[in-house]
Amino acid sequence: MTPAERLGKVKKQLVEATAASALSVTSPTLIAVSKTYDADTIEPVIEAGQRVFGENRVQESQGKWPALQEKYPDLELHLIGPLQSNKAADAVALFDVIQTVDREKIARALKKEMDRQKRSIQLFVQVNTGSEPQKGGVLPADADQLIAYCRDDQKLEIAGLMCIPPAGEDPVPHFTMLADIARRNDICSLSMGMSADFERAAQAGATHIRVGSAIFGPRLP
Ligand SMILES: *Cc1c(COP(=O)(O)O)cnc(C)c1O
Repeated sequence: MTPAERLGKVKKQLVEATAASALSVTSPTLIAVSKTYDADTIEPVIEAGQRVFGENRVQESQGKWPALQEKYPDLELHLIGPLQSNKAADAVALFDVIQTVDREKIARALKKEMDRQKRSIQLFVQVNTGSEPQKGGVLPADADQLIAYCRDDQKLEIAGLMCIPPAGEDPVPHFTMLADIARRNDICSLSMGMSADFERAAQAGATHIRVGSAIFGPRLP
């Protein structure tokens, strides 16, 4: 199957998963995660109608997305990988949504750049629901405080929360934890679920799912 054909299959599975859900959930926004794939591989997926994409590196994205954004002005590009504050200016210039706000320093850098570039982008706070030392994201116990800092101190709107559950664990308790943090902070969007678990994420109330290999195929290391 081609990536465009696999995209069709994922969309169908998503509709079926949300239809079968006990909660009356609406179908989440599908973010096609195109990291490691070049523009020639991505373009047929755009031509097949996909408009929302995710990347995990600022520098890699700068090499392939500006030309695609010019050709297809209605694309929506999400940063889903870790962000260093020295890349905040580039990230604000290129992305429409940044899902990996996980500390005060990054919130300050993004606020400064959005003001300087007069560009408003959507922000999600990433929560390290498994408290894994090697993983980005604010610890669950510190999430409320970071959200309050973004809103009250930096006057930033927080549109959503994002998590990447630990590999090899049941992801559902992590999805539930993220939804609980969102609810008590009046946050509407939940970015959770990848190729292996997007159907379960949709049933747990995801508003955004991030699907890479199920669309583009296995990535080279
Ligand atoms: C790579 C990546 C994905 C997509 O992973 P697949 O398993 O290929 O669907 C989703 N979210 C993040 C943060 C990623 O880095």
